[in-house]
Amino acid sequence: MQSITTEVAIVGLGPVGNTLSNILGSSGIDVVGIDARDEVYSLPRAIGMDHEVMRVFQNIGIAGDLASVVSEYKDSIYRAADGALLRRFTSPPSPYRLGWPAYLTFVQPELERKLREKAISSDRIRLLTGSEVVALDSPESPQLTLRDCNTGDITALSARFVVGCDGGASFIRRGLGVKFEDLIFDQPWLVVDVILGDDDFDLPETNVQFCHPERPHTFVICPGRLRRWEFMMLPGETADELNRPERIWQLLSPWLKQGQAEIWRSATYRFHALVAETWRVGQVFLAGDACHMTPPFLAQGMVQGIKDAANLGWKLAHVLKGGPDRVLATYQQERRPLVHEVISITKELGQVICELDEEKAKRRDDELKASGRSSSRRFPLA
Ligand SMILES: Cc1cc2nc3c(=O)[nH]c(=O)nc-3n(C[C@H](O)[C@H](O)[C@H](O)COP(=O)(O)OP(=O)(O)OC[C@H]3O[C@@H](n4cnc5c(N)ncnc54)[C@H](O)[C@@H]3O)c2cc1C
Repeated sequence: MQSITTEVAIVGLGPVGNTLSNILGSSGIDVVGIDARDEVYSLPRAIGMDHEVMRVFQNIGIAGDLASVVSEYKDSIYRAADGALLRRFTSPPSPYRLGWPAYLTFVQPELERKLREKAISSDRIRLLTGSEVVALDSPESPQLTLRDCNTGDITALSARFVVGCDGGASFIRRGLGVKFEDLIFDQPWLVVDVILGDDDFDLPETNVQFCHPERPHTFVICPGRLRRWEFMMLPGETADELNRPERIWQLLSPWLKQGQAEIWRSATYRFHALVAETWRVGQVFLAGDACHMTPPFLAQGMVQGIKDAANLGWKLAHVLKGGPDRVLATYQQERRPLVHEVISITKELGQVICELDEEKAKRRDDELKASGRSSSRRFPLA
């Protein structure tokens, strides 16, 4: 059996684990990053991020490489079933406070590839892809057991610190016995990414939340010819029934005919609002989806995960270079209340969008129109 020792082991090389690897590697810390998959996740997930996250990527040194997969996020409007405008969110105009538009849209697999390439180029970072973590022992002095997904070979890994960036079903979180606080949101949605053909299309010029009680749905303008539609699944519908090309074309028919565009990818998800009770046990930390899950209505899930990595990264480096351990206590103190607040705001927006009861939707529309909340305002958190 092979044995490895490192300063920080990062379990999960999604956007959060890769960002953290890069932050630590560029601070001169030895990192081993582990992921069960060889390739980055390719189904549709994050599409929006903010300027603070772009600053993190700039510090890592990949902002220039992202130019072709990032563009400015358009305004977002909420429309009632009768077409009335319920809300309009705008971004602060140029000049931009952080040098980047406050909100950006991007292509997640491409971003993840750039982050991985950057990590591979560092002589401080060793990536073990195609390796699954199958055991975590003694969190006070963490030991991991890794199983090679192809050969079944076992590797023992000891690290001063372990960070679980292993996504919503996190093995590390479960291994630590950490529970989620459930902010009570559970909605199934179909997500479809479409590449438009060369024609001119009569599509909305902004992002739109269609708050239609017969089927809430979302349209997002993404970089280049990429466009996203998200459709709420209705009670009684199944993922298998809805996530089929014929059914997807039916759902897209108000905007597009088959042949005018290509369905690049589609997936169904349940959107949750969850935050881990504890973000650290011994020398093991949690970050990203492993410790919080956010419905996507404000494009904040990955954004908050990258902010976890930025917050935890310099603190781990500081302690590994001799700084006091107490600085690490500030990770959860600083991040958890903020993430909790972001998830709560997102959940409120989700409840506005996801109303299926016609009477309640009508009352919602009347209230929003009467309260003047349909007028333009900044994106929350911008
Ligand atoms: C439809 C949808 C839309 C979204 N839109 C947005 C958006 O616009 N903006 C935004 O900020 N966020 C958005 N999100 C959320 C965002 O996609 C996630 O928050 C983000 O991808 C989570 O990244 P992560 O690195 O924490 O986890 P993941 O990307 O899930 O990575 C976890 C990694 O851990 C690995 N792993 C798991 N277990 C093990 C193990 N035992 N051993 C080894 N490896 C393991 C997995 O293979 C995986 O690669 C959206 C999500 C969805 C579903």
